[in-house]
Amino acid sequence: MIDPFGRNLDYLRVSITDRCNLRCVYCMPPSGVEWKPHGSMLSFEEILRLCGIMAGLGIRKIKVTGGEPLVRKGAAFFIRSLKALQGIEQVTLTTNGLLLDSFLGEAKDAIPDAFNISLDTLDAERFARITRSTSENSGGSAESLLKKILRVMDDLLKKNIPLKINCVPVRSFNEEDIVPIAALARDKNIAVRFIELMPMGIASALRPVSNNEVAAMLEKQFGPLTPFSGVLGNGPARYYTIKGFLGKLGFISPLSHKFCESCTRLRLSSEGMLKPCLSSDIGMDLRLLLRSNASDEELRAAIMELVSKKPWAHTFLQSMPLAPDSGAANTIDATGAVAPADPKGGMYRIGG
Ligand code: SAM
Ligand code: SF4
Repeated sequence: MIDPFGRNLDYLRVSITDRCNLRCVYCMPPSGVEWKPHGSMLSFEEILRLCGIMAGLGIRKIKVTGGEPLVRKGAAFFIRSLKALQGIEQVTLTTNGLLLDSFLGEAKDAIPDAFNISLDTLDAERFARITRSTSENSGGSAESLLKKILRVMDDLLKKNIPLKINCVPVRSFNEEDIVPIAALARDKNIAVRFIELMPMGIASALRPVSNNEVAAMLEKQFGPLTPFSGVLGNGPARYYTIKGFLGKLGFISPLSHKFCESCTRLRLSSEGMLKPCLSSDIGMDLRLLLRSNASDEELRAAIMELVSKKPWAHTFLQSMPLAPDSGAANTIDATGAVAPADPKGGMYRIGG
């Protein structure tokens, strides 16, 4: 699938649920996901049919995401079926890690090829504040949840399963965690990635920390960052090494270093909306087609129509003020953010 700008779209992010057992301040409204009628989500069979068709069109890598993908019953069955699709070379999973233990037990022969675990802090109080977790809604104290995540990370490493940590620095929420989270890559063979906060839905009311600032903090603490020239994963992260580190440090900087020219992704929401870009209003309602008995040929044509509309670049910066003193385009800083278009929305709807 070649888009109008010559990009070969081979990577699909599939969200299998909007629901989550956490309520991260930059992703999910405090009240969680709004009520939706039964059947609004695609069934696994429907998603598998679409993934099979897209594999035929050139998708090679699939990331399973959410909401929290592991809250959906049958995630292990689904991943096993995805891995069996002809043409699919890699299936990976992004998770907050809380249900990973039981998933790994269940998945056995269907372990994803790599995992991303989201972790914004190692401090129990800040974990509770960022994830809005309570013993009632998340099944344990913040301290026990953190321990659980760190334990399952070690389990994955013992099994030699590739692991990346995603950390989203948010002004006045977790700046003090940037150095300790990065230190995980000093002590373990993992990639720790810092993702710039994207002004989607509820996150528009928060203030980002630019990755330029994160990098400066890390260099001050650990010494110079040296660009890593090897390939790590399929994403837009730029990776670095630091002397004495077992793992790598990565920066995903959609705002300060736009990477749209190399974006080869499509996104499928849990309700069957195929989207060409995180920031785009454009989408193709594949659920409607699936449920009106569209043939594979009709679905293929709809997918290709969407591909033909993939925009050249995201538009986040149009709604994000630039740093007043930066002098450079495409930089952000502690400048605050704009009023959200949909203050109830967030990344949980499209899967990050
Ligand atoms: N629940 C899973 C998790 O947390 O990893 C998967 C879904 S989550 C939406 C996927 C990724 O998006 C996470 O790494 C999360 O930190 C990131 N994310 C959510 N909202 C974001 C935002 N506004 N800006 C940048 N990253 C965001
Ligand atoms: Fe849930 Fe992931 Fe969103 Fe946090 S980032 S609320 S864990 S979907």
